Amino acid sequence: MLDFKRQLSTHGVPTPVADIDMDLVRDCIHCGLCLPKCPTFRALHHEGDSPRGRMWQIKEASLGLVSFDDPRFQTHIYQCFNCRACETACPSGVQFGPVMEMARAKTPPQNRRDRLVRAVLLNGLLPHPRRLRIAGRLYRTARAIRLPELLRRSGAWKVMPLGKFAAFPPVGDTSPRQTPLAAVTPAAGERRGRVGLLTGCIQDEMFHGSNRRTVLALAKNGYDVVVPEERVCCGALASHAGEAKTAERLAAGTLDAFTRLNLDAVIVNAAGCGSNMKEYELQLRHDNQRREAGGAFAGRVKDASEFLVDRGLRPPTGHIRARVAYQDPCHLVHGQKIHQQPRQALKMIPGLELVEIVESDWCCGSAGVYNLTHPEIAEEALSWKVKHIIDSGAEIIASANPGCILQIGMGLQRAGKDIPVVHVMDLLGWAYGDETQRPPVVRRAMA
Ligand code: SF4
Ligand code: SF4
Repeated sequence: MLDFKRQLSTHGVPTPVADIDMDLVRDCIHCGLCLPKCPTFRALHHEGDSPRGRMWQIKEASLGLVSFDDPRFQTHIYQCFNCRACETACPSGVQFGPVMEMARAKTPPQNRRDRLVRAVLLNGLLPHPRRLRIAGRLYRTARAIRLPELLRRSGAWKVMPLGKFAAFPPVGDTSPRQTPLAAVTPAAGERRGRVGLLTGCIQDEMFHGSNRRTVLALAKNGYDVVVPEERVCCGALASHAGEAKTAERLAAGTLDAFTRLNLDAVIVNAAGCGSNMKEYELQLRHDNQRREAGGAFAGRVKDASEFLVDRGLRPPTGHIRARVAYQDPCHLVHGQKIHQQPRQALKMIPGLELVEIVESDWCCGSAGVYNLTHPEIAEEALSWKVKHIIDSGAEIIASANPGCILQIGMGLQRAGKDIPVVHVMDLLGWAYGDETQRPPVVRRAMA
């Protein structure tokens, strides 16, 4: 349970800045054991870009010894992936993610690209379902008419802003029109309960098929699956970027939408969203009406693999005879401490051989909107990831977060490797009988 009480000034000790929880900041004893696990420290070789350095700077700023507006402070704070690998390495139990989000909320970025991404994506697009639907349709139409391929072949992408994203990964949905998910999908076989599914914003626009296969896997395991009438955005990207007001508003909307539905659990198949929703008590700490409800709600939020494996997964019968590597999304392995369940779910697919990737729990550089705001550092992290994947000899990569799937798919495509990157729920759904959107290697592996 997080403690939000403020520390008081005594005898000349500077008064901590409101909204930064000094108890959480003081958990760091500056031992440095987290440094070898930090991707930005590895990439930038600077103490200010290590977890210890960042905690030290946040402490100084919170005590008024450094200004939150200091450009050097802002640079180090926004160069963090917020991957939370330091939390896993930390013997002192530092909750780095929440501290970083509080610090970012006090520190608007000076980087122009960062400000643009916030204005357009985090505040202008994601919280508005209608606008997002239009953008999603445009994106899928571009994919359907092979526009990215044309840009690549003509070389035009090299002179476009953010042109490397013209290497749109060969994953996700390409049909401009989507069939909405049923409001309620009934359980198959013996009924075990009633769950809700967060369909998400980017997840539903770009990976609607993965959502359908998540519903199928849950129904095959005996759960009625309920989808809220209006699409809700949980606020994860806004929260990780320190857009506290937007994040709080979206958290309140998500809480209200699911609370009405009387559910045993709320299932999430996007790691960043699940991690965020499990911290709704923190997100809603300024909302007196919802703070307690946020804590109770967080206890019912479950990642899809976590829920299915912990409740006893009913084994699928379809064979997938392929070497599959699982890539840990940071907000699943570090944010939610879920490491085994996705692997166990994959191992229950007949014929599937699970192989490990070196540094599977290192950030791929997607990190929310980081690959848009800090593309050079994100590229370095992606290059490590692509090398390890190729070295593993895997034919298929499974992950559990849309950002990672897009980023790794893009990296592999640019490396000239035809290795599909899919969701764990995709593989499970295909093994349960879904036949849509199977990449050629999966079709061959199931023949
Ligand atoms: S975050 Fe944890 S591991 Fe890193 S310096 Fe602080 S106490 Fe040590
Ligand atoms: S969250 Fe990740 S990038 Fe940021 S300090 Fe921790 S390990 Fe380093």
